[in-house]
Amino acid sequence: MYLTDYTYDELLDCASKAYGDNFGEFAAPVSSFIGDDLRVLELWHGPTCAFKDMALQIMPRLLSLALKKTGEDKTAYILVATSGDTGKAALEGYKDVDGVKIMVFYPEDGVSDMQKMQMATQEGKNVCVTAIKGNFDDAQTGVKKIFADPDAKAKLFDKGEFLSSANSINWGRLAPQIVYYISAYADLVTEGDISLGEKVDITVPTGNFGNIFAAYLAKCMGLPVNRFICASNSNNILTDFLNTGVYDRNRKFYTTISPSMDILISSNLERLLCYMAGAEKTKDYMEKLSKDGVYQVESEVLEKIKAEFSAYCCDEENCMETIKSTFDKYSYLCDPHTAVAVKAAHMYLDENGKGLKNIVASTASPYKFASDVLVSLGESVPEDLKQVLTKLASISKTEIPAPLEALFSKSVRFTKSVDKSHESLLGEVLAF
Ligand SMILES: *Cc1c(COP(=O)(O)O)cnc(C)c1O
Repeated sequence: MYLTDYTYDELLDCASKAYGDNFGEFAAPVSSFIGDDLRVLELWHGPTCAFKDMALQIMPRLLSLALKKTGEDKTAYILVATSGDTGKAALEGYKDVDGVKIMVFYPEDGVSDMQKMQMATQEGKNVCVTAIKGNFDDAQTGVKKIFADPDAKAKLFDKGEFLSSANSINWGRLAPQIVYYISAYADLVTEGDISLGEKVDITVPTGNFGNIFAAYLAKCMGLPVNRFICASNSNNILTDFLNTGVYDRNRKFYTTISPSMDILISSNLERLLCYMAGAEKTKDYMEKLSKDGVYQVESEVLEKIKAEFSAYCCDEENCMETIKSTFDKYSYLCDPHTAVAVKAAHMYLDENGKGLKNIVASTASPYKFASDVLVSLGESVPEDLKQVLTKLASISKTEIPAPLEALFSKSVRFTKSVDKSHESLLGEVLAF
């Protein structure tokens, strides 16, 4: 129904390559149970061990094919600013793809040791990674400035290149995410856990609102879903909005152990508003947001949203406690993002009673955040990163994911760190 510029065979070929040997046996298994009600949909069996692989393994193949189909002879130059997960997933997705090159900027002190190692050892002929002396906002602002600089555009044009982005409002990232909600439902039917047509609830740990919006689109396409449960960490702007109709970004920003959800402006929420309130009103809300940092939807819009979505948030203490109790009670090890969702799903069950099966999206491997997971389990954390992973493996009796294990034998390729000025970032972009 989507991406109809491609033939069925082209889409099938892209999908087979995207979700083949670079994933585990199953791309998106929904096999783990937490108690009677929760079913865990694991979205982290790809090459970077986080759910962004689900979209970023197929999107580069679609882009490369589109360049060929439209006869484009310039190279698409992908620029990414990352707080950790997106950069690595984009690098893995775009490495050695025809007609494309990619540069990733990350804040020198703003990513975890594991994330830094993942990016510094990145392979591929068409990739470059640069650290910025600054925070994520500096990286993001720097990249936006390059996109808006006509002089940069002209210089790249002369080199036979044009800029493109890989951020999460790109439809090429959203469309592939619809698929695994449908496959998860089909798997539960196949296993006899639900009957065909029976409604389920879906809980998603949410940052930019892309993953949960893809689940909503699956419902629009006919998937029998009762409610969507939006789970947030201490940055609970979405919890407040979905419960009160007021979106107010004038608030404290928290740095948490679920960093991929540390976000105050959820870009894809605009898409939901467009469905619920129409384009004109949405434009109005977005203008208010950029001018005053706050908007409020009308009560009838809020009612429509509340008919589909519930929202809960979970602070750091509850997140850590959930990692421990889920492991102790159900022998299931979650990463901090997934734990926020498990907690939200339990809060929803407590308020609304049992009944429907609840598919909880698990968005990262616990090994990607191994130190925080060890602390949550009440364990000490070894100095050496490899030891941290080994210790988690022996305590949890699970295996270190192969792509993370392999990092320790790779050589470091990217060590450059630059200051955050426009000139310096642009210099890096033009030099590569
Ligand atoms: C990006 C990310 C999220 C948030 O997903 P959105 O689509 O931005 O809402 C949650 N968990 C992990 C591990 C992520 O990398």
